[in-house]
Amino acid sequence: MTRIIVVGGGAGGLELATKLGDTLGKKKRAKITLVDRKSSHLWKPLLHEVATGSLDAGVDAISYRAHGCNHHFDFQLGSLSQINREDKSITLAAITDEEGELLVPERELGYDYLVMAIGSTSNDFGTKGVKDHCIFLDSPEQADRFRTEMNNEFLKLHAKNGDGKVNIAIVGAGATGVELSAELHNAIKALHGYGFADLDSTKLNVTLVEAGERILPALPPRISGAAHQELVKLGVNVRTATMVTEATASGLYTKDGDFIEADIMVWAAGIKAPDFLKDIAGLETNRINQLVVKSTLQTSRDDAIFVIGDCAQCEQPDGSMVPPRAQAAHQMASRCYRNLIALQSGRELKPYLYKDHGSLVSLSRFSTVGSLMGNLTGGSMMVEGRMARVVYISLYRMHQMALHGTVKTGLMILVGRINRLLRPSLKLH
Ligand SMILES: Cc1cc2nc3c(=O)[nH]c(=O)nc-3n(C[C@H](O)[C@H](O)[C@H](O)COP(=O)(O)OP(=O)(O)OC[C@H]3O[C@@H](n4cnc5c(N)ncnc54)[C@H](O)[C@@H]3O)c2cc1C
Repeated sequence: MTRIIVVGGGAGGLELATKLGDTLGKKKRAKITLVDRKSSHLWKPLLHEVATGSLDAGVDAISYRAHGCNHHFDFQLGSLSQINREDKSITLAAITDEEGELLVPERELGYDYLVMAIGSTSNDFGTKGVKDHCIFLDSPEQADRFRTEMNNEFLKLHAKNGDGKVNIAIVGAGATGVELSAELHNAIKALHGYGFADLDSTKLNVTLVEAGERILPALPPRISGAAHQELVKLGVNVRTATMVTEATASGLYTKDGDFIEADIMVWAAGIKAPDFLKDIAGLETNRINQLVVKSTLQTSRDDAIFVIGDCAQCEQPDGSMVPPRAQAAHQMASRCYRNLIALQSGRELKPYLYKDHGSLVSLSRFSTVGSLMGNLTGGSMMVEGRMARVVYISLYRMHQMALHGTVKTGLMILVGRINRLLRPSLKLH
C-alpha cells in the first residue's frame, strides 16, 4: 500500500490529510499519516484574537488524533528533524516531558510520498534584543503569553486606580500587526464592561511601527490608506518609515535614534520557514529557508517530496512568488491532493496557479477593510464594513468546511452563536 506522510497539520496540511484520508485512506488504497509537533490544531489567522482574549483557543482547537480517527488517517505526534531521501524516511525527534524525562524515543517513518507543510515563523532579521524581549504570534502558547502579560499590565493599572497607561508596541504593519492593534481596542472596551471601570481606550497606548512608507504594503494603497485612517480613529499611534534597530526590556530603539517606550512588544515584521530546513537533505532552499518547488508543488530536486503553504517557494508563470497566506495554503492543499491522486492513477500532474481572491483585514469585530479580486470588475474592488467582515469570516468557514463538511460546520456556527450568549465576550482567565 502507498504510504503518504504529511508533515505539519496547519492551514494546508490538515486539509490535505483530511481529503487524502476521506478518499485513499477510507478505501485502503493508501496509508495516510499526519505528523505534527502539537496534538491539536488552531487555524493561525485566529491567533491575534486569542492574544487579546476575544477568542478562547480551547473552543476552536481540533484534536489531531480524534480528527484522524474520523477521517481515516493515522496521527503521529512528533517534530520532524531530518529527511532521509536515500531510504525515503523521515526522522522524528525524541519526545520528552517538561522535566526532560524521555516519553518517546527518536523514530523513523518510511514514505513513498512526503508532503512538507510545516509553515513559517516570525523573522526578526537578526535584530538585536528581539528574541529576548519581543513576543512572536506564531502559536497559541505565544498568543496566550501575550494575553497573560496584557492582563497583568491592566491589573497593575487597575490597582493604581487607572493612574498611567499600558504601552504596547507592535513591529510590522502587515495584516497581523494591523489586526492586533485594532483588536486591542476591542479588548479594552470589553474589560471596561467587566468591572474595570477605570480602564478605557485612553489608558491604552498602542504604537504600530512599520519600516515601509505605508501600512499593509502588500495591499493596494487605497486600502492601506483606509486602514490607516481607521487605526488613527481608534487611537493607534501609527509610525511608518520607522526602522527598529534594537529591542530592550523597556522599549524599542529606532534607526533615527528615537526610543519607543513599551511594556509589551510584539514582533510581526515578516516570516521565514523554520531554520532547520536550510540545506535539509540536499533540497533547494531560498534565503528565508523555504523549500523551492516546481509548478506541480514537487521539490526542484526530488519528485517524491511535495511542499505546500508558507514553507514553499512557488514561482508563478509571471515570475511572482505565491504569498504566505491561508488562502494560498488552502489552494495548494487542493492542488497537491489532485496531483497525489493523479500519481496513483498514472495521470499527468498539473501546475498550481495561485488565485488571488483578495485580502481582507479585520479592524476589530465590526470593521473590516480589504480588496476582493472580482471577475466582474476584472481587477481589485475595495470593500469595507459588514460585507467585508462576512467575507473575512468566510475564509475560516472554508477551512472548517474542508475539515468537517457542511453539516458539522453548520452545527459549529450554531454552537459559536450560542456560546456568544452564554460565555463572556472576552477570555478573562
Ligand atoms: C496572527 C496571524 C494572522 C494571520 N491572518 C491571516 C489572514 O487574515 N489571511 C491569510 O490569508 N493569512 C493570514 N495569516 C497567515 C496564515 O496563517 C498562514 O499563511 C497559514 O497558516 C500557512 O499555512 P501552513 O499550512 O503553511 O502553515 P501553518 O498553518 O503555520 O501550519 C504549520 C503546522 O506545522 C507544524 N509544524 C511546524 N514545525 C514542525 C515540525 N518540525 N514537525 C512537525 N510539525 C511541525 C505546526 O505545529 C503547525 O501545525 C496570519 C498569520 C498570523 C500569525
